[in-house]
Amino acid sequence: QARAVEAEKKVRTVCSYCGVGCNLEVSVRGNEILSIRAPNDAEVNQGHTCLKGRYAWKFYNHPERLKTPLIKKNGQFVSASWDEAYQLIATRLSKIKIEHGADAIAGISSARCTNEENYLMQKLLRAVIGTNNIDCCARVCHSPTAYGMQQAFGTGAATNSIKDIKETSFIMVIGANPTAAHPVTGAKIKQQLMKGVPSIVIDPVKTEIARYATYHLQLRPGTNLAMMNMMCYYIIEQNLVDDAFITERCEDWESFKARVMALNMDELESICGVDKALVKRAAVAYASADKAMSFHGLGVTEHSQGSRTVMYIANLAMMTGNIGRPGVGVNPLRGQNNVQGAADMGCQPHQGAGYMPIDSADNHAKYTAHYGVHMPEKAGLKIPQMFNAAVAGDLKAIWIMGEDVAQTDPNQQHVLAALNNLDFLVVQEIFLSETAKLADVVLPGTSFLEKSGTFTNGERRIQAVNAAIEPLSGCKTDGQILADMINHLGGQQPSAAPEVVLEEIAQIVPFFAGVKWHELGENGKQWPVLADGQGTDILHIEQFKRGKGKFHYFDFAETQELIANGATFPFILTTSRVLEHYNAATMTRRTNNEKIVDKDILLINPQDARRKQIVSDSEVKLFSERGEIRMVAKVSNKVKPGVLFTTFHFPELMVNRLTGDICDTETMCPEYKVVAVDVQPLSC
Ligand code: SF4
Repeated sequence: QARAVEAEKKVRTVCSYCGVGCNLEVSVRGNEILSIRAPNDAEVNQGHTCLKGRYAWKFYNHPERLKTPLIKKNGQFVSASWDEAYQLIATRLSKIKIEHGADAIAGISSARCTNEENYLMQKLLRAVIGTNNIDCCARVCHSPTAYGMQQAFGTGAATNSIKDIKETSFIMVIGANPTAAHPVTGAKIKQQLMKGVPSIVIDPVKTEIARYATYHLQLRPGTNLAMMNMMCYYIIEQNLVDDAFITERCEDWESFKARVMALNMDELESICGVDKALVKRAAVAYASADKAMSFHGLGVTEHSQGSRTVMYIANLAMMTGNIGRPGVGVNPLRGQNNVQGAADMGCQPHQGAGYMPIDSADNHAKYTAHYGVHMPEKAGLKIPQMFNAAVAGDLKAIWIMGEDVAQTDPNQQHVLAALNNLDFLVVQEIFLSETAKLADVVLPGTSFLEKSGTFTNGERRIQAVNAAIEPLSGCKTDGQILADMINHLGGQQPSAAPEVVLEEIAQIVPFFAGVKWHELGENGKQWPVLADGQGTDILHIEQFKRGKGKFHYFDFAETQELIANGATFPFILTTSRVLEHYNAATMTRRTNNEKIVDKDILLINPQDARRKQIVSDSEVKLFSERGEIRMVAKVSNKVKPGVLFTTFHFPELMVNRLTGDICDTETMCPEYKVVAVDVQPLSC
């Protein structure tokens, strides 16, 4: 408190960890940050933060911050000037483009960066280099949400707002651990559950929120779709569907219903490992509620049937009329602070800014007219395809902004082989990450505290990020780096200033049409923001974006990971986060949170622990078809027999040595959540 009094100014900005998008008030003196608190009038977080956001300033001036461009010479990094780095990048990329074509170059954008920076990244790749090889980390987290909800509703974003949690009469949480991964929203959900709002939690792990749930359906990992089919079956069987809503607003209901009612509940019960009577009670409770909201996370999407499960969450909402009014809807808990925005801005290989498919002639003409150059027509490579192409020698260069793919993407050996096989790797980062260590050129970017722009949170809220301090000496904002490079490579970017870039975005992205930097105010606006400047807190009120809401039917299919490896590796490893850390913990481990949680722990059921002679706090060997790692185990009833659980914040443990190449059928989102493994005490 004493330090806050000494502040020269207080700057309102937005947290750069999770998709809740909490507003932060940063106290500053000179170019030094003194503290962070949460403003009470923040629509999103009303004076609250979690301990990630509260102490987010602790990492910004860590001694390991990169402060000069680095160029690799004879295998060693040497400091370089910005001009030298830019010139080298321009020369090498131009040469690769001439010799191998623009499609030999790819970019991976960052969900931690602003909308404007993501927009410029895709502009650099598409309009300047000439390829649609642009993707972002939505590929490895919520791409199935975007795809699945687009198929069902026409828009791949949350239908409702966080404030609706207070209005709802039923909450369903599927494959999400919100009190750890989205703590401020998680706390709101938990408060409702503690007040007696009935709820379902569908999760293979007894998470904190599961302890408060009316029904915890603790299913076998990878069986979400079977569980969804059971719920649909019982709702139809008990005549709890909203016939009027379905008739007026949906299509393909009859065929869906017929196929669901042909299912065998005994078979699905045995697949999921959950008593069908309990599933029936839960389904009836959900369908009987006046207003039911669903929340889902990566425990839905990061599966081989991730997109299909998202479509089933939409099925459940539509068949019970839980769409288009306050207190209902399908509400993905978006992982990273701006993963919604990175996809909105076109950082994906098949859709440009504003989700317009690039293979449509109309869209292509629109993009070409806007950028003044002939835009590439062929859909680009998704991140896993980039790595495959790099290993095959077809992809020669990747530009990565703020992603540590060497640590966070699955099948680590394959990712490393891909990065090492490139002719040229550029990485924009704030620390020398494992990916940056492999780069030919490293460009020192800035943290969220040193830049201005916008982030879009999980409820589609576009909020102003305001620089609290100047970029640390030697660093540039990521937007400035991209604008500089667009100009170096022959494109045109007059400025990286958010008001300038937002104005350009508003011209091309229909749901940003009314967004103006100076009109965002302190609490931002939820898209679509139409030309009159009005935001939208609930989607699909009168009709769905695609017209009629569409029912989709799918059979459950066991993942190939278990079919191929389950006999040799009989345990299923699944993963999630802890409250104190964020993903690869690049930032949280450079705060005091490191002192609270200093390692990932493997949870094993007591029955399995006895059989395997594993005791709590002992080291174990965990191995899959791809590799092995060592961890400390803890015996716990939070997981059922046959299931192991860990977090992934300490990448030196290399959990991604174990994960494989199985992906969501529709989007290529990796199946992180089901890995066939075996475990042994280390003495064996
Ligand atoms: Fe809010 Fe998420 Fe940041 Fe925590 S990590 S302060 S919940 S935005």
